Amino acid sequence: MIATYNDLKNKKVLVTGASRGIGLEISRGLAKQGAHVIFNYREGKEEVAATLSEELKILGASNVTGLKFDVTNEEQMKESVSEFIKEFGPIEGLVNNAGISKDTLLLRLKGSDIDSILGTNLKGAMMLTSICSRYFLKAENVSIVNVSSIVGLMGNVSQSAYAASKAGLLGFTKSVAKELGSRNIRANAICPGFIATDMTDALEDKAKEAYLSSIPLGDFGKSEDIANLTCFLLSQASSYITGEVIKIDGGLYI
Ligand code: NDP
Repeated sequence: MIATYNDLKNKKVLVTGASRGIGLEISRGLAKQGAHVIFNYREGKEEVAATLSEELKILGASNVTGLKFDVTNEEQMKESVSEFIKEFGPIEGLVNNAGISKDTLLLRLKGSDIDSILGTNLKGAMMLTSICSRYFLKAENVSIVNVSSIVGLMGNVSQSAYAASKAGLLGFTKSVAKELGSRNIRANAICPGFIATDMTDALEDKAKEAYLSSIPLGDFGKSEDIANLTCFLLSQASSYITGEVIKIDGGLYI
């Protein structure tokens, strides 16, 4: 951890897709800041959730709550969020991180692929933000971080649906920033480049080498890099930043 943000102590922050990869590391980062980490996981990941809960407490979280829901299931999200709020009060930070990718050439793109990619990456984030927004109005210094991608800015071969979902998230972020700014609710998007996780591990070695040779800083990013930026955006250290799109890609997309 590079910086400590005192205002993150006890802050109730919900992170989606926290079972692994970037979401897991953001949850760890928030735990180190002493936040009340509300981590989301899916059905079937109960053991992972139990282990994570213990780990986050050891790392320093002031409290830890696991919320089981699928971001494509509106009812599950409504129920989980309202149950949490009944017990602990309003959520003060939200990280829409859960996401999927499925590389397919445009020629072979199926409607079902579009539905699942947009449904998870875009509609899931939009619905959850909408569900939380009524409670955000009762909280102070709320910050929303949407995990987009540089692919949403530059497009990519075989990733038309993924790129569309991530580009959509940018328009959504800016709209939320405008709509809720007067209530001191901020919304920003981050655009990671190539970060070493399960998602990128699935790529062929050739593709990884091609990415690596295009990164001026000469290395893939780490989930910790994303966690550091996310903590900054959730904290009051970034209190005058909203509607912003921040690339974090080692220079991959310059
Ligand atoms: P991983 O594939 O490693 O992890 C994805 C996470 O999202 C898992 O926790 C997964 O849960 C969860 N998830 C997927 N679908 C759903 C759903 N319907 N409901 C709830 N949770 C779900 O991905 P990364 O950590 O690499 O990526 C995290 C985010 O960062 C994504 O939005 C991705 O698009 C974005 N990103 C990643 C980049 C990279 O290089 N890695 C680059 C740019 C953006 P489960 O374990 O149950 O499957």
